[in-house]
Parts: sequence; C-alpha cells; structure tokens
Amino acid sequence: MNIVLDYGHGGIDSYGKYTTAPHKMFTYPTGEVAYEGFFNRQIGGLVEIYLRSHYPQYNVITTVKATDYRDVHLSYRVKVANEFNPEETIFISLHSNASFEHTARGFEIYTTKGITKSDGLATCIGDSVKKYYDEMGLRVRQDYISDGDIDKELDFYVLRKTRCPAVLIEALFFDCWDDYIILKDPAYQKEFAWNVYLGIIKYLNNL
Ligand SMILES: [Zn+2]
Repeated sequence: MNIVLDYGHGGIDSYGKYTTAPHKMFTYPTGEVAYEGFFNRQIGGLVEIYLRSHYPQYNVITTVKATDYRDVHLSYRVKVANEFNPEETIFISLHSNASFEHTARGFEIYTTKGITKSDGLATCIGDSVKKYYDEMGLRVRQDYISDGDIDKELDFYVLRKTRCPAVLIEALFFDCWDDYIILKDPAYQKEFAWNVYLGIIKYLNNL
C-alpha cells in the first residue's frame, strides 16, 4: 500500500522567510503571525513518523518533505500520487483553515463530489478526529446535507486530479486566535496527528 502525504503550501526557509507569503498566513494584533504551511508540515511530519515507525511495510511518500519549505505546484503534488496504482494508493492532504471573518473554528475533511472510495477514508479519519475533538471541546464542522457522511465535498484541485482515494484535512482555523493557540501547541499537534494516523490505519485494515 502506498500512502501519499501532502503538506499544503510552503514552509519557512532558513532566513525566516515564509514561502507562501502573503497568502496562507495571518497577523494577529499582538504582532504574532500564523503560517499555515508551517503547521501543515509540523502536523503532517508527525503523521509520517507514526506511519513509518508502526507500519514499515507501507510505502509512505510525501509530495514535499516536512523539512522542505518549498511550495511545490499543485500539479506536481498530484503527479506524485498518480505515479502509483490507484488501487493500492491513498492520498491525504494536510491543511489548516481560514475564514473571511477570522472567527470560524474547527475541523473539516473534504473529498471529491459524489460517492467515491474517498468517503470511506474520510469517515475513518473524521470519526477518529471527532472522538478527540469531542474530548477537547473542539468543533467538527460536518456536512450531513449532501450524503450523510462526515466529509464536506468541494472540488479541490488535488482531490479532483488524483486517481486514488483522496482526502483534504483542515485541522483548525489558523486565523482565529482560539484555534491558533491550540494549533501551535506541540501536545495538540501530536494528539491530532495520532488520530489522523489511527483513522488511516483503520481504513487500511478494513480494505
Ligand atoms: Zn491550505
């Protein structure tokens, strides 16, 4: 089984410069700046470590290394996933969210439109995260209107173009202070990544 992990946007280079600036970042009145791509790498890198250490038999591939600050093109991210047999591959893109009012909070998981194999993967990861978020009093933003599953359906490029089951995770909202202080907490990052990992394993064990 090939597990393709995709860390959204760019990271911070050795000079402290954010690759995806001025997008996918938010400056708080305190002067503190949240960088989405940085969090995506921190959390995704943990999911990667858990998978590699507990399931060495799985082939874990990343579209960009967690230590690599470059914002690789979306078509490249898709190309990495599509090089593998779609029947033996899953794709997980890690992000955190932002809203127009900077007040929205919580977790979301997206798949492509319609009923696909991605729904099963989204349900496994979503249920696992929901259990943890319920304990934490954090919100899981659900979309029960479309098909009754936990996932929201939106045509993200990486979801539309990948041929294997694919999901896109929005951990929390990096532009909302209450979510941001949780998002940057290493204890949260570990626990969240662990629950994403558990969801992936649950899906793979049920294949
Ligand atoms: Zn993003």
